Amino acid sequence: MRDAFLPFSPPLLGDEEIAEVLDTLRSDWITTGPKVRRFESDFAEYLGAPAALAVSSATDAMLVGLAALGVGPGDAVITTPMTFCSTVHVIEHLGARPILVDVAPDTLNIDPAHVERALQSIIHHPQSAIKGIMPVHLYGHPCDMAPLNALAEQYNLFILEDAAHSLPARYKGQMIGAHATRNPQSAIRNLVAFSFYATKNLTTAEGGMLTGALELINWARTWSLHGMSRDAYKRYSAEGSWYYEVILPGYKCNMTDIQAALGLQQLKKLDGFQVRRRQIVRRYQEAFAGNDALQTPVERPDVESAWHIYALRLNLERLTIDRARFIEELKARNIGTSVHFIPIHLHPYYRDKYGYKPDDFPVAHREYQRLISLPLNLRMSDGDVEDVIEAVLDVAKQHGR
Ligand SMILES: *Cc1c(COP(=O)(O)O)cnc(C)c1O
Repeated sequence: MRDAFLPFSPPLLGDEEIAEVLDTLRSDWITTGPKVRRFESDFAEYLGAPAALAVSSATDAMLVGLAALGVGPGDAVITTPMTFCSTVHVIEHLGARPILVDVAPDTLNIDPAHVERALQSIIHHPQSAIKGIMPVHLYGHPCDMAPLNALAEQYNLFILEDAAHSLPARYKGQMIGAHATRNPQSAIRNLVAFSFYATKNLTTAEGGMLTGALELINWARTWSLHGMSRDAYKRYSAEGSWYYEVILPGYKCNMTDIQAALGLQQLKKLDGFQVRRRQIVRRYQEAFAGNDALQTPVERPDVESAWHIYALRLNLERLTIDRARFIEELKARNIGTSVHFIPIHLHPYYRDKYGYKPDDFPVAHREYQRLISLPLNLRMSDGDVEDVIEAVLDVAKQHGR
């Protein structure tokens, strides 16, 4: 057994990031300045997105995205229970109503068939006007976007993708985040939100990015900085550089050049990071395949996952212990793990506000009880990976039935 604890997801920052941050600290710009603009354009170019807006988190990217799309009181947005709470919080923040639908058993991503059922039933009982869909590319595995885009077209909905896990990922050859370019004739207004939180595939400590069509990104930009309009400044600037106009009650969630400094250097390394992630995943898949107590994650044939999280599922009927105990046993063997996620409808706020019962989303509820996220990060050595494998197989064997 290993003698030092293996943490679940520490960041990997190198000399390049440190030098870029120092360069920023020694410059005249520490808040939103030239490095943020460069990070936005490098990021948009990397994905093939028409435009990008850097903000302080993915949560804020989703918030200003929904605001730019005009979501407000009386509106409803369809999303998934298998996500981090903030995907759903931002809908609440705008006074709109989240409508949860269940997930597909293989990927745990939002199930387009359930989305369609929700659209049909709500059309007949219109309590709220459904304005859009927020799919979450869980663990980095892209959602099945073709049927979702078709439903968005049919019902005139926006799509705001939570891509916090899915940098970089591909769906049918297209990079997630380049969606807005997929069908220029379409009326669909897609926006995509990325996270650069400390544990994510690319980190700026805290940070996020919203990508999409230029016009929507410009609105989101105004929402992200007090609702101050630069266009007004350009148009009426006889008064000079001090003049601005407030056209919206905007938020304050701009990114700083210190964060962008980290992002610029991390982006250069991202493809290399992914090669290593895939190596670790391949090793896990080989080691756990064929073990009766374990179910390995899938990658559907038409996607490339970003493999942000490696979510193993326990076949509980083959074990004498439950998931919580399995995690304790791994911890006793110095392996740090996590669970992604406690479904939204089980959290007291949402459970009580909307009267959800655990079985309202039976797939999410059932699968949640057997999920364990294993360490998958760039600080792991090959030996660390083998330690995780050895510990998991040992617990499964000791407590197998
Ligand atoms: C991390 C995460 C977020 C929030 O990202 P922040 O940048 O911390 O706001 C949202 N959704 C999912 C699925 C996440 O994992």
